[in-house]
Amino acid sequence: MAYDDIIQQLEFLRDIGIESLSLSNGIATPENADAAPASADSLDAIRADIGDCQRCKLAPQRTNIVFGSGNPNAEIVFVGEAPGYEEDQQGLPFVGAAGQLLTKIIESIGIKREDAYICNILKCRPPNNRNPEPDEVLVCNPFLKRQIAAIGPKIVCCLGKFAAQSLLQSPAPITRLRGQFHDIDGLRVIATFHPAYLLRSPEKKREVWEDMKQIRAELFRLRF
Ligand code: URA
Repeated sequence: MAYDDIIQQLEFLRDIGIESLSLSNGIATPENADAAPASADSLDAIRADIGDCQRCKLAPQRTNIVFGSGNPNAEIVFVGEAPGYEEDQQGLPFVGAAGQLLTKIIESIGIKREDAYICNILKCRPPNNRNPEPDEVLVCNPFLKRQIAAIGPKIVCCLGKFAAQSLLQSPAPITRLRGQFHDIDGLRVIATFHPAYLLRSPEKKREVWEDMKQIRAELFRLRF
């Protein structure tokens, strides 16, 4: 890990009040990053199927489809809600202020952002960042499911209420859904607060750190 990365990781931990670190139970960088995908479907094939998507009412207003980015063989997939302004402009997920915080959160457990995979429930920006609507989720969801199946991660982490309720198929509040693993379709799924929410409520970073430690321990367990 580069010096700057270590500093960034330590700054995140300091921000959330962590003053000492144990060296045990560390997570190594994934060694199987170049392993073959678990499924015959590929991210390229899924992206090609999406094409210049016109399947829902978000299409006319978007600038770019935000498919997802990261390691196609990632051990962990982070799923947010939907692209915002910056993401729509660049065609990449989590590139704004919330994205910078997400990078720190991921790095806090020793994973490089590019070793994870990041995507959203919706691939197009809802106008004025309004909540995704059921018909939009319905048409986008099969592509997300295929992406997750193609990657074959060990863990899926839902970022925020919307992703959690959608992937866990539960109307429960994020405060109830977060902080524990759920088994969904053979996957270990956990939810935590959305980084955009953390920017508004930094005192919640402590709970996110607890969730990230659970992810780190579970990844460690699943590797052996
Ligand atoms: N918020 C999200 O949920 N997703 C993004 O890609 C950016 C911000």
